[in-house]
Amino acid sequence: MRILIVEDEKKISEFIKRGLKEENYAVDAALDGLEGLRMAEENPYDLIILDIMLPGMDGLTLCARLRAGGFGAPIMMLTAKDLVEDKVKGLDAGANDYLTKPFAFEELLARIRALLRKTPAQPSTTLEAGDLNLDLLTHKAFRAGRELILSAKEFALLEYLTRNQGAIVTRTMISEHVWDINFDTATNVIDVYINYLRRKLESGRGKKIIHTVRGKGYILKP
Ligand code: CA
Repeated sequence: MRILIVEDEKKISEFIKRGLKEENYAVDAALDGLEGLRMAEENPYDLIILDIMLPGMDGLTLCARLRAGGFGAPIMMLTAKDLVEDKVKGLDAGANDYLTKPFAFEELLARIRALLRKTPAQPSTTLEAGDLNLDLLTHKAFRAGRELILSAKEFALLEYLTRNQGAIVTRTMISEHVWDINFDTATNVIDVYINYLRRKLESGRGKKIIHTVRGKGYILKP
């Protein structure tokens, strides 16, 4: 899943970015409101972490602009202020959640997981597809109870395919949600990673689960 951080305090931005990358998220960062707006309009982010006090354009305006433009992914507001009025304004502008600085990184992660789950009844820390099980807390993947040893990128790719199980995902979608803005579209790195995953998923007696859809992309079907 790919996240945009819009935060002008470099230290905080770097801290969040590093932590999220360790959790296998693809992460881009914008240091002012206008850059944030441009990046959010150009890239299909799965979630935006948005500071309120920003140069260029403040977070409330940016949030309202994105919502007016049809941006549908979750937005989490971040601010040093802890005023009820600001929280109300943020939620009214279209934010889904709110976190006051300073915050514990674990809380940020838990809120992100909650915002990214599709059905509220589903526990936010695991994903399932047939005999495939992903633990989003430990980043461990299991097939029929057997643990698969995956690299961080392989896990992120498998997580994206599993979240979209039953639907075709194109290489563009994969590059946009699993890799960050530095992804080189001229390479075949996605196919290479798909092959790594297949080898690990289908070793032993594992049935084929990642299918190629000719001319379109891939589909994970349990
Ligand atoms: Ca700020």
